[in-house]
Amino acid sequence: MVRASNAIDDVCEALNRRNPGESEFLQAAGEVLERLEPLLDRQPELASHGLLLRLCEPERQIIFRVPWQDDRGEVHVNRGFRVEFNSALGPYKGGLRFDPDLDLSTVKFLAFEQTFKNALTGLSIGGAKGGADFDPKGRSEGEVMRFCQSFMTELLRHLGEQTDVPAGDIGVGTREIGWLFGQYKRITNRYESGVLTGKGLNWGGSPGREQATGQGVVLFLQRMLEHAGSSAEGRTAVVSGSGNVALHAIEQLGRLGVTVVACSDSDGVVVDRDGIDVDLLRRVKEVDRDRLTAYAAGRPRAEHRPGGNIWDVPCELALPCATQNELTGTDAKALVANGCIAVAEGANMPSTPDAVGVFEAAGTSFAPGKAANAGGVAVSALEMQQNAMRASWTLADVEERLASIMDAIHDECARTAEEFDRPGDYVAGANIAGFRRVAEAMSALGII
Ligand code: GLU
Repeated sequence: MVRASNAIDDVCEALNRRNPGESEFLQAAGEVLERLEPLLDRQPELASHGLLLRLCEPERQIIFRVPWQDDRGEVHVNRGFRVEFNSALGPYKGGLRFDPDLDLSTVKFLAFEQTFKNALTGLSIGGAKGGADFDPKGRSEGEVMRFCQSFMTELLRHLGEQTDVPAGDIGVGTREIGWLFGQYKRITNRYESGVLTGKGLNWGGSPGREQATGQGVVLFLQRMLEHAGSSAEGRTAVVSGSGNVALHAIEQLGRLGVTVVACSDSDGVVVDRDGIDVDLLRRVKEVDRDRLTAYAAGRPRAEHRPGGNIWDVPCELALPCATQNELTGTDAKALVANGCIAVAEGANMPSTPDAVGVFEAAGTSFAPGKAANAGGVAVSALEMQQNAMRASWTLADVEERLASIMDAIHDECARTAEEFDRPGDYVAGANIAGFRRVAEAMSALGII
């Protein structure tokens, strides 16, 4: 019989050979594969029939041209992506990201992570991700709308409520989902609500979707702290980023009696020892679409540090909610030295492998993104359910379901970690539990 460690090494070697230069994708795949040995030792059938290789190869990768005209009539060409990674558990599901640095490696890693995250929700959704290397910063409404329309004109042939259901991610919120949905509806002549999630409330959206990711991260963090005999109340936190996930995480932490002393954007860090004022932050970021310098200008006691590092700000709880690989081994050491007791990832893969190693060695409670930030996609799946039933649930109803889904994800990760003699290791728990669910479904469906 092939030993699990050999099977994993062979797959890692094949992945390196087949995906040269795709460092984010190789990192994400490596992080999952290296945790699977104890599971594959017990259930070797999950590594048979080329299952690991099949699981690491996207079912479909789409790259397309997105031409559009700016307000002066000048033509621009961007690159659009959709990686449909795995549909063993349900239709492809995952967000769209508009970011000038987006490339295939990033979309592939995000789609790969999404596959296991979605599996952990226990809902019937496969994994995908997409977007474009388009920079919405500084663009007018008309320009972003025309871009969304051009993007959807090509993407729509790959979508469908039973096929592939995108949502938002960095740079794509309810406004962009509206323009994407409008173009889909216009070309297909179908009011197919379930083809996109994150919609507005009066055109098929779900109450609670907007805040779900940030709310879910905080629910997970609370449950993890309780499990370790601790609690969040009265503690200090830093939350990186200031987009949708960060904003709602900060709001939820405030409700728990946690003081969030810093947040950030790509220009720098704002430190506000009185606690970040969520209403001001919302106005600056969501209404004015401005930078954090505008927040600091509205809060005389807040300090703006251009180019500063948020992880140097002392805190007990750290929530990376900005982007991948934003928290390095050096940052993790600074956090530990400053007394940080728990980290919960709101972004996808924000901590580098070195950082995860530092937290593990220090005994810092660590909630990996694929478990902790699953609340957003979970409420997307609830939105799909409502669309399928042509129903609309109340906010209280959605929030209750989200809370029980986050508790269930936490408990499954904790239980799986214990089952494999790694108590408290949520990275192992999430990867093994997510992989097991996808792999068992794939193995039932035959060699496809
Ligand atoms: N982009 C979000 C994520 O990373 C949400 C995806 C969705 O709702 O489909 O999970």
